[in-house]
Amino acid sequence: MALLSGKTALVSGIANRWSIAYAIARAFHAHGANLILTYEGERTQPEVEKMAAECGGVATMCDVSTDESLAALRAFIDKRGVKLDALVHSIAFARKEELAGKFYATSRDGFALALGVSAYSLVALCRELAPVFAPNASVMTMTYLGSVRAVSNYNVMGVAKAALEASVRYLSVDLGESGIRVNAISAGPIKTASARAVSGFTSILGDVAAKSPLRRNAVADDVANAAVFLASDLSTAITGHVLYVDAGYNVVGIS
Ligand code: NAP
Repeated sequence: MALLSGKTALVSGIANRWSIAYAIARAFHAHGANLILTYEGERTQPEVEKMAAECGGVATMCDVSTDESLAALRAFIDKRGVKLDALVHSIAFARKEELAGKFYATSRDGFALALGVSAYSLVALCRELAPVFAPNASVMTMTYLGSVRAVSNYNVMGVAKAALEASVRYLSVDLGESGIRVNAISAGPIKTASARAVSGFTSILGDVAAKSPLRRNAVADDVANAAVFLASDLSTAITGHVLYVDAGYNVVGIS
C-alpha cells in the first residue's frame, strides 16, 4: 500500500548511500512521494543529483548554517509552486576531536558549531519553510539516546541532541496551530559517515546487538519505515514525540 502518494517531501542530509536520509528517500519514493533532496555542497552534489533522478525527484543545495542558503531553498520550493507535506531534517555535525575524550574539553566555538548545525538548523528550517508547508504537514528530525544518557565520546553531540529534542517540543506547539506536527526519531547506532566520527562507535554497535530486547541493531531501513509512518496520514495525532527505533535498547537497565 502506498502511504505517501500525492505527497511532496523534502529530505535533507544525504551524504552518500549509507546516509539514513537516503534510506528515507528511497522508502518515501516507494510509497509514492514526490521528492526534493538537498545536499550541503559541491562535494555531494553529483551523487545526490543522481539519487534524486533515480527517485524521479529533484535536488538542490542547502547549507543549513547560513540564512541565505535557507532563503534560497525556500525560493526553490516557491518557484516550483509546491507545498511540502513532509520535511526530514537528518543533519548533524561536530568536530571529530570533540567526539572523543572528556566532554569538559569541548571548546566554546565547537559547542556553538555543533548546536548550531545539529539543533538550531531545525528551528531555522521550520521558520523559513513554514509558509510552504501544506496543511497537516509532518516535520521530523533524527536524534540519538545520547540526548538523555551519557554515552561515551558522544559528548557535545549529546547536548546538541537534547537541544534538538527540546526544540521539537516547542516547534510542535508553534506549528501545531496550523495542524503541522513535529517529531523526532531516536535511531539506534547505524554505521554511517557521521557515526564513524564518534570514537569507539564499533563497540557501541556491539553493546546494542548484545543487550537490546531484539538482540540486534536497528538498520537504516527500520528508521525509514518509521519515517514513512510519521510522514503518512497514519500518524495525524502524534506530535512533539521522540519515537525510538533502536531495537528497544533504550528500555534496558542493568542486564
Ligand atoms: P550522514 O550520512 O553523515 O548524514 C549527516 C548529514 O548531515 C550529511 O549529509 C551532511 O552533509 C549533513 N550536514 C552536515 N552539516 C551540514 C550543513 N551545514 N548543512 C547541510 N547539511 C549538513 O550520517 P547519518 O548517520 O545518516 O546522520 C543523519 C542524522 O541521523 C544525524 O542527525 C545524526 O545525528 C542522526 N543519527 C544518526 C545515528 C547513527 O548511528 N548513524 C543514530 C541516531 C541519530 P555532508 O556530509 O555533505 O557535509
